[in-house]
Amino acid sequence: MQKWKTKNGYIIFQVLSGRSNSYLISSDKINILVDTGKKLSCKLLQKNIDSLNLKRTITSLILTHTHYDHCQNTFTIKEHEKCEIVMSEKEARYAEQGFTTLPKGTFPISQLISRLGNKIGAKSFGYKPFTPDILVNEEFDFKPNNMNIKIISTSGHSKGSISIIVDNEIAIVGDAMIGVYKNSIFPPFADDKEEMIISWGKLLKTGCNIFLPGHGKEISRELLQKEYTLYSQKLNIHSVEYYPKP
Ligand SMILES: [Zn+2]
Repeated sequence: MQKWKTKNGYIIFQVLSGRSNSYLISSDKINILVDTGKKLSCKLLQKNIDSLNLKRTITSLILTHTHYDHCQNTFTIKEHEKCEIVMSEKEARYAEQGFTTLPKGTFPISQLISRLGNKIGAKSFGYKPFTPDILVNEEFDFKPNNMNIKIISTSGHSKGSISIIVDNEIAIVGDAMIGVYKNSIFPPFADDKEEMIISWGKLLKTGCNIFLPGHGKEISRELLQKEYTLYSQKLNIHSVEYYPKP
């Protein structure tokens, strides 16, 4: 199982890979799960978590956003682990209804997939509704047991997309970018492309060196910087929200 370690000794395990990634942030005190994958992966996710023989329980589950392929096991995990669910307030109403509209396509083929998918709707792309416990907005200092973890809004792929900044070193970014292609991180789906590129700028300003996406492999700072320069010119984006705020 792939893992990353930060200067304060937090370990990030990749507890689910393949179609969708899930990560577990682990310290000597607590464990935090990020995303839950698709329903079909539920047993595998549980098995991979069990294989870590964690000394502590999972206290929190953070959802980078509420598309079905990231949150279909949320209800089950909450029942099993009795953990709190942390997510953006902008997607709370979706969680309660058990369906989040699929994002727009950024290429002609993904535009078609998105339209067809939204016609099918909750039947294939829904999830068991759940109630979030902590709702975050633009920025949230999430300091469970004094851990150095921040959550920032990185909207664009969806309205309520958030990223988790671990120890100012590693960012878990959901679908704000994609790690499937070698030289591009531009995702095939995004509700607001411009907003997403602005979020890339925010992520660069956190100083993180590694970006862990919801699909594919880790993304380097160099590649994010290159893509940010390319797309901010392409889409004519000049203003980047300053982070951290003065
Ligand atoms: Zn998504």
